[in-house]
Amino acid sequence: MLRAPIVRGTQLLSKWSLRSFGVPTRRGQIHACRLSSQAASVLTKVEDYKPGDHLNGFTIEQVVPIPELYLTAVKLNHDRTGAQYLHIARDDSNNVFSVGFRTTPMDSTGVPHILEHTTLCGSQKYPCRDPFFKMLNRSLSTFMNAWTASDYTMYPFSTMNPQDFENLLSVYLDAAFFPRLRELDFRQEGWRLEHENNQDCNSPIIFKGVVFNEMKGALTSPEQLFGIHLQNKLMPSNTYSHNSGGEPLNIPDLTWQQLREFHATHYHPSNARFYSYGNLPMERNLELIDKLVLQKFDKIEPKTEVPNETRWDEPREFHVHCAPDPMAADPEKQTTISVNYLLGTITDQYESFLMSFISSLLVHGPPAPFYKSLITANIGSDYSAYTGYNGSTKDASFSIGLQGIKKEDLDKVKQLIEQTFDEVIQTGFESERIEAILHMIELSQKHQTTMFGLGIISSLMSSWNHDADPVTCLQVNKHVNQFKQSLKDNPKFLQEKVRQYFKENSHKMVLVMTPKEDFKKQTEEAEQQKLSEMVARLSTQDKEKVFQTGLALAEEQNKEEDLSSLPTLRVSDISPQLVRTHFDLTNIGGVQVQCCQQPTNGITYFRGLSSMKTLPDELLPYVPLFCGVITRLGAGDMSFQELAQREELKTGGLGMGTHLVQYHSDVMSYEQGVTLSSSSLDRNLPEMFSLWTEIFNRPTMSDNDRLSTLVRMSASDLAMSLANSGHAYAMKGASSSLTPVARLKQLMGGMTQVTFMKGIAECEDMMETMTKLKQVASHLLNKENMRCAINSSPEFMSSALSELESFLETLPGQAGNNEAMFVKQACGFVPSQERNHYELPFPVNYMSRGIQAVPYTHPDFPTLRILARLMSAKFLHREIREKGGAYGSGASMGTDGVFKFYSYRDPNSINTLESFSHSVEWAIKGDYTQQDIDEAKLSIFSAVDGPVAPSDKAMTFFLSGISDDMRQQQREGLFAANKQSLIDVAQRYLTPNAQVTAEAFLGPENTMSQDKAGGWKIHKEAM
Ligand SMILES: [Zn+2]
Repeated sequence: MLRAPIVRGTQLLSKWSLRSFGVPTRRGQIHACRLSSQAASVLTKVEDYKPGDHLNGFTIEQVVPIPELYLTAVKLNHDRTGAQYLHIARDDSNNVFSVGFRTTPMDSTGVPHILEHTTLCGSQKYPCRDPFFKMLNRSLSTFMNAWTASDYTMYPFSTMNPQDFENLLSVYLDAAFFPRLRELDFRQEGWRLEHENNQDCNSPIIFKGVVFNEMKGALTSPEQLFGIHLQNKLMPSNTYSHNSGGEPLNIPDLTWQQLREFHATHYHPSNARFYSYGNLPMERNLELIDKLVLQKFDKIEPKTEVPNETRWDEPREFHVHCAPDPMAADPEKQTTISVNYLLGTITDQYESFLMSFISSLLVHGPPAPFYKSLITANIGSDYSAYTGYNGSTKDASFSIGLQGIKKEDLDKVKQLIEQTFDEVIQTGFESERIEAILHMIELSQKHQTTMFGLGIISSLMSSWNHDADPVTCLQVNKHVNQFKQSLKDNPKFLQEKVRQYFKENSHKMVLVMTPKEDFKKQTEEAEQQKLSEMVARLSTQDKEKVFQTGLALAEEQNKEEDLSSLPTLRVSDISPQLVRTHFDLTNIGGVQVQCCQQPTNGITYFRGLSSMKTLPDELLPYVPLFCGVITRLGAGDMSFQELAQREELKTGGLGMGTHLVQYHSDVMSYEQGVTLSSSSLDRNLPEMFSLWTEIFNRPTMSDNDRLSTLVRMSASDLAMSLANSGHAYAMKGASSSLTPVARLKQLMGGMTQVTFMKGIAECEDMMETMTKLKQVASHLLNKENMRCAINSSPEFMSSALSELESFLETLPGQAGNNEAMFVKQACGFVPSQERNHYELPFPVNYMSRGIQAVPYTHPDFPTLRILARLMSAKFLHREIREKGGAYGSGASMGTDGVFKFYSYRDPNSINTLESFSHSVEWAIKGDYTQQDIDEAKLSIFSAVDGPVAPSDKAMTFFLSGISDDMRQQQREGLFAANKQSLIDVAQRYLTPNAQVTAEAFLGPENTMSQDKAGGWKIHKEAM
């Protein structure tokens, strides 16, 4: 997909919430940005301000340089309204803005969530529906979103273009502070009674509404349901006992009037926190925000403070239910249990740092005590959802448990948890473990990626929302030093904390969730009862109004909208020239090495690529599993725990992945291999390479129990990914018969792979699998067909290369291949028309159609790319999402040479396939404007010109052989596309029978695919 659709999420608790700033997790690091000589000027300018200075209606409260993060924080307060403001000056052109409000509902009607939706239905200055979605096509934004958490609602965006920043700022501010909030918008987004068929007053009256349906869908996820129960029951006395997203049965109690009142009292400057970040001048932001918003308000007392939770005298236990999971590998193992502890308040920043640190020690990775006692014991499939530290509520919490266990094992898990705490209190943590976590903090501060500004506000918002000082929260080194001192003063310091927070804590809750056969039926009956009660109360007059409102809403939705009020960038604002990246190619002992000098801030990034050229076909399906386990089994004299420990202590992790790319100039040729990737502080580079040396030369491939643990985790991840990424699986299915590389992607990452992994997970004995993995290793773990890349600072590059040289000398095999790519031409591949239905017990479908098209360097490729975007935004979105009721849809021109259509969480199937066809007719008719084409170009360029972190520079060339010259040519092709060329390519590639076409979908039983004439092949293997 070229651009992910805006997803408005309701965040509850964050899984793996080691989110307190500075403690990285493998699943999501806090990001950093580029640095350059300009850094000084951006920072010194704001450092001239002093507390007490007045500026554009604001008073400066603090100016604090934080050298370890290369930034200066400025905290301000708005004089007239009391609005709080945090500016982070940093030499990063990916500027961020966000406004957040403390939204603390006292019921489960979902009022903050429905409000978040309704504010995006048009505002005073921009009276059009869904301005965020529309701005996607008029902007070069690098991020746009809005979300409702348990106690705040936040509206952030980022962009690298200064004009775009002001455009988006204006749209965001107007949406948040001056939304129209019309009753029809509330009915559309929140809830309404409406006839099932809104044109027919004799059809039954049912509940409708975007949030109503969204929450019904969300609560079908057992993990989400578990998270909601967890929070509601652990903090029962105030706002956290309610569901801020909305309980489907409570949503219909919300009135339009209540929604407007909630907006007036909560979306008010006196209850707001503004944030800006980057290299744009702070003064201009203050001036605009003061002028556009703050001058129009007076101060109020929002009274949104959340009191601390009253502590319990004794532990509690709750038992809740969910629907059985039809996809579960073992139906007997569907119980989840977690033990939860309420900790200190998150506004105590050092204590929060400490608790998230201890949580990392306890649960993170194979050397952690809970990993050893719970995961390695093979009782369940994985940790329970929300395991770890959680700092997203005013009082923090810690959760530990297992999912996918047998009911009979509940007591055993409880015992193991108690026992593990006892052992930790007794023996403490190894000093190497503590060093490893400190090392990860250091690495995360230095590692620079592209979303640093957004990372900061996401990690600050929860504690700032409760009036913690956001600046202190950023001072990671202060906390680290205090921590080291405490440990020096008292070596048993951590053990005492564990005793205090876990052993002696009576605010403790056991939560058990088990499936119940009639859970779904009961939920439906409860909704039906609520509905009949409400319908019974309707007078004849009310009923007439229900019908009329339904008609009015339908009419409103079909209206052509006037978007002229929305600001837009122009295509001429985009630079015609690509920003080029310099790198050198060299050869070390027969291995080609790419060196790219970047301001990497003391970290060296290594990538390797080992070709699968010699691998026999029957071993191909094992490659993803091989990549997933080979760095996690142990190597040389190291057990898997010891290897993981060395990784955390000396590196940013060692990773291996499947590599499949189409050759940029031929749809029938491709490269297949595995990638290696790792990074380390410059000083640790020798240790990093020595770990790779052990893995290449002496991997431990004998521990079948360990393999079985890893297989189960990976199979359950894959099964879970089906519902979230069903469209990606459908697209892979619809492409697999069209190009050789797409066929391999299906085999190694599509439904074929899911079925394959399910089969392996069901095997009791891992012996045969281990044998296959050993064969894969013998083909891939050598330097015979290898190339490498190093991204490092100019000062360190030559040292890095000599370390690489020593490493390569240790590898088996004879290098001597000097090809830039290991391109393989598929012989005998003939594209064919296939139709595949992957039958799965979902309530919705994921549809896709693929059409064989052209490779990256073909002159039609950029035109097809623009066409795909145009069709997505101007046709498919309306037909499949707005009219069809699917969550998402689109088209894309992929680098696998296939033009693809898709839909996401789609109630339809045959209609959607027809819409795909109609979009082609629409494209050929040319019934769109120059503005429409320009919007498609802007949208493509915002992806093409997105920020690239120093660690990732020149990776496009390394991985796919696409040079800057080719990218410049592509760029010119994108600019050149016009209506005639769009019509031409639509005719040449997309009309029926022009090229080979295939279709695939994921979804439940379907009469369409059962019709023999359709030629569908039905697969039930993955169920
Ligand atoms: Zn929502």
